[in-house]
Amino acid sequence: MILKGDTVMIRRGKERGKRGTVKAVYPSLGTATVEGVNVVKRHAKQGSKSGHMGGATQTGGIIEKEAPLPIAALQYVCEKCKAPVRLRHGRARDGGLHRICARCGEPARESAKGA
Ligand SMILES: [Zn+2]
Repeated sequence: MILKGDTVMIRRGKERGKRGTVKAVYPSLGTATVEGVNVVKRHAKQGSKSGHMGGATQTGGIIEKEAPLPIAALQYVCEKCKAPVRLRHGRARDGGLHRICARCGEPARESAKGA
């Protein structure tokens, strides 16, 4: 169970081992985007300018965007353990169900901004 704002580690694929913050979750697609991970560069259509390859990068012409990753490839990183952990659901002191780190028992944040 990954939510927006979580820190996650990538478990498989070419981005394996990278960490980042979840930018968006698409539950219906089973995917999520992670900040700075799986960035794809898209060349935006430019005019007829060509031949200026030596100078500064043409930032205007290139769009960098995180491509979605399968949620199954992401593992939650506990802020306390500083390590990828499994989450379990359990009852906290207030009686509510929370996502809890299976390693240290620290409750995970429930959502990014109060939801
Ligand atoms: Zn922990």
